[in-house]
Amino acid sequence: MKLVSRAQWGARPWREPNGSIPYAGPRKGTKLHYLGTAYTFGPHNSCPVYVRKLQASHMDVEGWSDIGYSFVVCEHGYVFEGRGLVRRNSANGNVSLNEAHYAVAALLGASGSTHPTDVQLRGLRDAIDYCRADGPAGTEIKGHRDGYPTLCPGDVLYAWVRAGAPGPTPP
Ligand SMILES: [Zn+2]
Ligand SMILES: [Zn+2]
Repeated sequence: MKLVSRAQWGARPWREPNGSIPYAGPRKGTKLHYLGTAYTFGPHNSCPVYVRKLQASHMDVEGWSDIGYSFVVCEHGYVFEGRGLVRRNSANGNVSLNEAHYAVAALLGASGSTHPTDVQLRGLRDAIDYCRADGPAGTEIKGHRDGYPTLCPGDVLYAWVRAGAPGPTPP
């Protein structure tokens, strides 16, 4: 897995004390997200910049204590560490939903670039497997829209979720 640590993408420190709240119990699995805004794939050096923007938006506009997602996967297949495996995410809709599943987001648009790349699917699958193995998390793979009224993670990614999040066909 091509993991990008918080230090590597230049994350801001999370706010205390809320940013440090650990999960109270085991996770049932992982929920997938997309950006829900316009997004256009670009060169990988723009990805850390975008993840920093996302964190700033979550902290300064939403008022959250950190980037909301557990992990963020760019179109080049890199897995950016958000809240990670231990700290409870704030992306699934409410505290009980956040407790139940990790939140893994794809840098994928509601318009513009709306179809994940093969390496992005590989990275999403890597993140799901990492959450299961090291979280640990159960085997559920769901979308943000499961249990919460939202279009997220978009119809294209949701179809992949419904198919069990298969990795891309090996070469
Ligand atoms: Zn979402
Ligand atoms: Zn990238």
